[in-house]
Amino acid sequence: MPPGQGDQCIYCQLIDNPQQLNLVGETENFYAWLEVQPRAKGHTQIVPKEHTESVMELGPSEYHEAMGLVREVMEKAIDGLGADGASITMNVKEAGGQMMPHMYISVFPRFEEDENAGTPTGAIFQHREDLQDESKLHEIKESMKSVTVDFEEETIEPDPESQKFKEKSVSSEENGDEEDERLTSSDRESFEWV
Ligand SMILES: [Zn+2]
Repeated sequence: MPPGQGDQCIYCQLIDNPQQLNLVGETENFYAWLEVQPRAKGHTQIVPKEHTESVMELGPSEYHEAMGLVREVMEKAIDGLGADGASITMNVKEAGGQMMPHMYISVFPRFEEDENAGTPTGAIFQHREDLQDESKLHEIKESMKSVTVDFEEETIEPDPESQKFKEKSVSSEENGDEEDERLTSSDRESFEWV
């Protein structure tokens, strides 16, 4: 936590007095509380208990934990409120629409009777024809692919159904006659996701 940041942060102040939060879920490191200025029935914020400025600071295991809570909240909205769907948003940094200096993931339950039902959250972006041609897409792809992402704390475990994982599994040693096609944990450890 940057010095003094937590003292000024509204979310940290709220977290210091959790009895004032309208909690609908909680994990070891995250709260799920009802937004006090809701934009939807059941509008929920998933917020880390420790001051964390951006979702860019989370490691894979923390995403896993936070997304598990997102999943739980969606189910509670559907079963408890009769929501017909949901939209999840992560607004990353100021340009990305982040409204607080303490990260959050928002769950917006969606209802068929809502005026905006069926509108994807991505509709705030206009279609960009200028980015669509093959050479432009190639240029963008190369710029993004050239970045090596290294999560220091751990490696990302690839989806066992992914093509790259299957290719690796063919070249790795036999698994014996496992009923399940999934690989053993030692195979997974030897896998490098590039
Ligand atoms: Zn904070």
